[in-house]
Amino acid sequence: MIIKLRQTVDSKKAEELALVFKAFHIKENECSTLVTASSLKEIPIQYQEFIDEFWVLDNDMQLSSKKYRKEKRTVNFGNIQIGGNTNNTILIGGPCSVESEEQIRESSQLLMKLGLSALRGGCYKPRTSPYSFQGLGLEGLKLLAKMREEFGLTVITEARDATHIDEIIEYTDVIQIGAKAMYDQGILRACAKIKKPVLIKRGFGTTLQEFVQAAEFVLSGGNDQVILCERGLRTFETATRFTLDLCGVAWLQEHCNLPVILDPSHAMGYAYGVPNLARACVAMGIDGLLIEAHPNPKVAKSDASQQLNHDEFEELYRSLHAVAYSVGYKIV
Ligand code: PEP
Ligand code: MN
Repeated sequence: MIIKLRQTVDSKKAEELALVFKAFHIKENECSTLVTASSLKEIPIQYQEFIDEFWVLDNDMQLSSKKYRKEKRTVNFGNIQIGGNTNNTILIGGPCSVESEEQIRESSQLLMKLGLSALRGGCYKPRTSPYSFQGLGLEGLKLLAKMREEFGLTVITEARDATHIDEIIEYTDVIQIGAKAMYDQGILRACAKIKKPVLIKRGFGTTLQEFVQAAEFVLSGGNDQVILCERGLRTFETATRFTLDLCGVAWLQEHCNLPVILDPSHAMGYAYGVPNLARACVAMGIDGLLIEAHPNPKVAKSDASQQLNHDEFEELYRSLHAVAYSVGYKIV
């Protein structure tokens, strides 16, 4: 249950009530809101005088549910807003991993040339093998921060586990929680305590319910800047790397009030399929697109097969405007 307390209830009383209801206490527009387990269906009569409004939810998709808040939430991606009624589709581009200053500068220059502002690049890579390139770590974060400084870009990078979450939070503008890391409660809880936007990727074996519950960890801790990212599920099919769950996206758009971004690069796993998939995603009226691009994909240290080269990225970018326009959106 979500309980909005009356404005006259002070913080001390709100804390007391949070204890009574074993609830999270968050502030929304200066008002205290309590979030209890969804199994609570009724408020005992002695507490009703403190309550302005309450929502009984069927399950633990609560703050992220359209049954609580019908309008899509707005999230600031640097100076660009997505979600709400902005109808912006933000195009996030950049390599899978930050590999060198020269490489990430070329990626930044590509975005600048196209008038885009969101640069991605992993520094702590969640590789499936310990023998693969693991990312540049702090050195990579500093390179991203340098690009932000030089070009005014908004940078997004992923947290692999909770050991370096403070570093990620310090250096990046938007924190990406990877498909494998989305169950890491150390990361989720740390992200709940900050004011920076958090992009949560759906695990490849994660149900939609589990996905939105990961978001609830961040929302119920007081950070309302949450974006969801669909990046493909593992299915019986092995010809493509994963299977992009567009049905899941439609479900989220119907039931969930968080902005949704799609990542066709990781879903497809091969560069040849990414442009068509990206256009299909944009045709759904989405809040953003995450596309991996590398100055020279052949020598990329991670996800080489799926990264577009810069000409391909530019061509894709140019083709997206008409698709976005046709569904009332704008590529930014
Ligand atoms: C990535 O964005 O490079 C990445 C590793 O993504 P995912 O967590 O979706 O596999
Ligand atoms: Mn990658």
